[in-house]
Amino acid sequence: MCDERCGVCSSLVADGSIECAHCDKIVCEVHSLMCDVCQDVYCTFCSTIDYSGRFEVGLCISCSEDARRGSDYSRDGFDGGGGGGGGGPDGMEM
Ligand SMILES: [Zn+2]
Ligand SMILES: [Zn+2]
Ligand SMILES: [Zn+2]
Repeated sequence: MCDERCGVCSSLVADGSIECAHCDKIVCEVHSLMCDVCQDVYCTFCSTIDYSGRFEVGLCISCSEDARRGSDYSRDGFDGGGGGGGGGPDGMEM
């Protein structure tokens, strides 16, 4: 008989234990969180709750980092140019 304990609150986890997809820690139901992006279950150490949207969504560390980097990037590169083709046509010559 292997009694598994939650890696967060160290209470005994009944059967149907949940394993964190990131650190393989066993967690109880209270301390597990499903990532809204990759749909994996993580412990509270490896996940974060994002309150920035309309609803609270659970995100794992890597997905929240991706989201943060993505929004940063889009904001940064919004006015990024690159429109010119490099050396316009020089036809107007008198
Ligand atoms: Zn727990
Ligand atoms: Zn974890
Ligand atoms: Zn994720």
